[in-house]
Amino acid sequence: MKELIYLDNNATTKIMDEVWDAMVPYFIHNYANASSVYHSMGREANGAIEKARLQVARSLNCQPKEIFFNSGATESINTVLKGIYKNYKSKGNHIITVKTEHKAVLETLLQLEKEGAFVTYLDVDHTGKIDLSVLEEHITAQTILVCIMAANNETGYIHPIQEIAMLCKDKDCLYFCDATQYIGKIPLDLGQIPIDILCLSAHKMHGPKGIGALFIRRKSKPIQISALITGGGQENGFRAGTYNVPNIVGLGSAITHMQHHERDFEHTIQLREYLENALSKIPATYIHAKTASRLPNTTSICFKHLLASELMTHCPQLALSSGSACVSGTRDPSHVLLAMGVSKEDALATVRFSISRLTTKEEVETTTRLITEAVTKIRQNSPIWQLFQAGLIT
Ligand code: PLP
Repeated sequence: MKELIYLDNNATTKIMDEVWDAMVPYFIHNYANASSVYHSMGREANGAIEKARLQVARSLNCQPKEIFFNSGATESINTVLKGIYKNYKSKGNHIITVKTEHKAVLETLLQLEKEGAFVTYLDVDHTGKIDLSVLEEHITAQTILVCIMAANNETGYIHPIQEIAMLCKDKDCLYFCDATQYIGKIPLDLGQIPIDILCLSAHKMHGPKGIGALFIRRKSKPIQISALITGGGQENGFRAGTYNVPNIVGLGSAITHMQHHERDFEHTIQLREYLENALSKIPATYIHAKTASRLPNTTSICFKHLLASELMTHCPQLALSSGSACVSGTRDPSHVLLAMGVSKEDALATVRFSISRLTTKEEVETTTRLITEAVTKIRQNSPIWQLFQAGLIT
């Protein structure tokens, strides 16, 4: 079987060799429970966890005691939204978010609305941008949390997190930032940006799946978030469950290596530029959020008058995604693109290409050739395309 060209790195990434090498000893040599501190193997495993905590803290410029390990961003999002609502609802029931957030945020907030939360879903323009003055207007004494991601998983759009954090600070309102797609691609300095709570996930940065970290800033008035999972008292009672030592070690290693590889994103930007230039030559094709500030590895492209699912079926050599990975498999158009004012037809005709630092120029060249051939072939047999060419539809 021919090797797949993997351009679905916003869904998940290949684990780096260095990360895997760091993890292996904790599967086969030191398999101790890191809470078993009465023997040397347990203490060594515990030390490995604290080393990883330090690695995460160093890469974000925060304190190790502000970092809590868990199973990933979905768990962090659930913990924060439910935990904040539970502890602050006596102060106010208002939460502000954006229509283009990840489903983990939107579905959890839907659940909280049923329990009495009042949620404002901010609109975005055609690039995914919110109006900061509208955000400011919505923050009232009842607002307990602003939840806005750093970068969108589908389009790569980057929100102005520095401005949002400053605004929330001025208004004395907590800011939770889902930085799952951002960390590992762009440096983020929590010493400079006053984000209160932030989540990240290892498998988006060439680390293992099922492990993430939650940053909760230490403040003079401590942020109150209840544990979602209770039990053995791990993570200072904040997140119970036997430590997944290999995965935690993998997260520490991945985030450290990504810091060293940040300049590789120059290479990623060049590959994306090549891909966008080549695919833009296909008639009736456009790039979502092209003019906005975007993640260097992501491009979301609409090939009008076809179905992205059909296009991907025509290219079995390519690993791509339509909309976000979490909604693939359903035929619903992406809620992100709909919120940006994209028509249902164009949303269903959109493919996401997400490059990684492991992607090669040859792979991108092959991708452009295969996509161009497939689009041409599909349209040749398409009555809708013929109507478009005859000027009967736009
Ligand atoms: N938030 C964003 C922006 C994401 O892209 C994802 C994954 O696709 C998640 C949250 C969920 O991450 P995890 O797989 O770690 O639960």
